[in-house]
Amino acid sequence: HAKRAGTATFVVYEASMNDRRAADAALAEALEGALQRDEFTVLYQPIVELATRRVVAVEALLRWHSPLHGDVSPGRFIPVAERSGDIVAIGQWVLEQACRQAVAWRAAGIDLTVTVNVSPRQLQEPSLARDVLGALDRTGLPAINLVVEVTESAMVNEAVEIAALRTIRAAGVRIAIDDFGTGYSSLQYLTRLPVDILKIDRSFVAQLDGTAEGSAIAEAIVRLAQILRLTTVAEGIEEEMQARELINLGSQRGQGFLFSRPVPADRIPELAADVTYTGFQQLSA
Ligand code: C2E
Ligand code: MG
Ligand code: MG
Ligand code: MG
Repeated sequence: HAKRAGTATFVVYEASMNDRRAADAALAEALEGALQRDEFTVLYQPIVELATRRVVAVEALLRWHSPLHGDVSPGRFIPVAERSGDIVAIGQWVLEQACRQAVAWRAAGIDLTVTVNVSPRQLQEPSLARDVLGALDRTGLPAINLVVEVTESAMVNEAVEIAALRTIRAAGVRIAIDDFGTGYSSLQYLTRLPVDILKIDRSFVAQLDGTAEGSAIAEAIVRLAQILRLTTVAEGIEEEMQARELINLGSQRGQGFLFSRPVPADRIPELAADVTYTGFQQLSA
């Protein structure tokens, strides 16, 4: 009986693998030319200074509406675009959009840093540094207003990636490690990598529950950042208690649904202007 159950499980597993492969292939096909057909938009999520809740930066987050598949989340389509190589052109488009948008905000008197996700595949491109600096040139955005976010898993061919990041950083663009603490890399690379910001992964923020155990990882990352003189941005803050704990741990910045979801560009000016909303300031006053 056990053997039959095992076989059945295997058959279901194999069928779902095939389904997954077929679905990926369909998405890959739909992604071809999606950029030219104007199917992408960019949303922006505020990053706040935790102590004041002032919006200091925004993260550019890609959205895809496929006429065939509807709204597809980046968690779903970016890995597919990564495998097909389409992410290189799509990523460059996001970068240019974000820089152009930041220039428009600056012209309206709103001085924000914009952060852009760069995928592992883009980091392998010999043209990456040229493409990033080209986007700044073409849009006129000062390098200090741009942050490039990379993940630990992107560090597959360290020498190549470090060289590209060094060039970008030498021009004044800052580098953030996204989802910090979730990758496979040893901590050693932190001392070799040109880096300015650590983004504390939201899984560690979700563990904050007022206990020493709950805050252990977030606290360790903040301490590490302090020693290396890096800024920390805590991701995925959904509750007041998490924001308060992060302030106590010494994390300067945060991002999450508590402050704002990702929104269209035209919503950002009102959010950036509003420095007085919600309770923490009243508590601390
Ligand atoms: P990420 O770079 O770590 O971005 C943060 C993700 O967390 C976003 O998901 C954001 O909507 C979500 N988030 C923010 N605050 C909260 C919160 O309080 N609670 C919860 N549960 N989630 C929160 P999104 O927009 O679905 O993007 C998912 C991932 O897709 C991103 O993770 C990033 O790795 C990738 N991605 C998005 N846009 C781009 C892009 O333009 N290029 C590349 N290469 N990757 C992108
Ligand atoms: Mg990110
Ligand atoms: Mg992240
Ligand atoms: Mg993530």
